[in-house]
Amino acid sequence: MKTTLVIVFFLLFFSGINSTNAQPVKENGQLEVESTFLVNENGEPIILRGISYGWHNWWPRFYNKESVKWLANDFKCTVVRAALGVGPRNSYIDKTEWSEEKIEAVIKGVIENDIYVIIDWHSHELHLNEAISFFTKMAEKYGEYPHVIYEIFNEPVDDSWEKVKDYSIKVIKAIREKDPDNIILVGSPHWDQDIHIVADDPIEGFSNLMYTVHFYAGTHGLSLRERSDYALNKGIPIFVSECAGMEANGNGEIDFESWKIWIDWMETNKISWVCWSIADKNETCSMLNRSASDIGNWKNSDLKESGIKTRELLRKYNK
Ligand code: MG
Repeated sequence: MKTTLVIVFFLLFFSGINSTNAQPVKENGQLEVESTFLVNENGEPIILRGISYGWHNWWPRFYNKESVKWLANDFKCTVVRAALGVGPRNSYIDKTEWSEEKIEAVIKGVIENDIYVIIDWHSHELHLNEAISFFTKMAEKYGEYPHVIYEIFNEPVDDSWEKVKDYSIKVIKAIREKDPDNIILVGSPHWDQDIHIVADDPIEGFSNLMYTVHFYAGTHGLSLRERSDYALNKGIPIFVSECAGMEANGNGEIDFESWKIWIDWMETNKISWVCWSIADKNETCSMLNRSASDIGNWKNSDLKESGIKTRELLRKYNK
């Protein structure tokens, strides 16, 4: 009896240590794109799964190393997305230095905790010169780290693919001057919905590019998956850098059934997924309540329904 208890204790103890010490970057190293897949340094397809922070200009309090550690260890994120707000007042264009500090706090936390990070240009409009200046700086500073993924245009709204493509090529060139290899995510027009248009006219001449599709399961379903399947069949690599279970406005009920279909579809196609978002606004998609501390250590009572469900999903799939 005593021996059994000792064994059980050791099993629990070591499985506990193991689960807090997942080291996705040490295990997978420098990522690449191979046909439609994100692959690790051994050429094996991998799926990154994690969470996006909300706009840094509205939720700067969560942009710190400690919250990254909590998302890595407790939520089991293998990737987090730092959403650099561009456009609203007091975001990147007005408060450049402060904004960079916020994003870099997350990048530093990611490097310490051995997970991946998406540096996300969280804009709905084109800001070419500012994007070139920002990504040049980031690529120069962090391009040697395998942890880093660049997302150069979160959700184009009104701009055509011709315009978004032209912008993307210019920003990609600027990044590639400093960093020859890390993954770059390119936005699709119309809130990352028009992947079929991208698929007919993709960017040529660069390696390690992927294109983003965003879904909100309460609004988006089969027709967006059909567009995405069309793109995959044409060899277009997809990364779901933002998704969630409720309606596209971030509110309404969570549609668990539709969300499950999306997750099964992404898992089947080995598509990485990142859920929206770490914020404490009174809306369904904000995962936290006002009671949540800036630095993690969140109890169940600090999490809203979307936070509880996202945590459950990440802990299930990122085992
Ligand atoms: Mg590099």
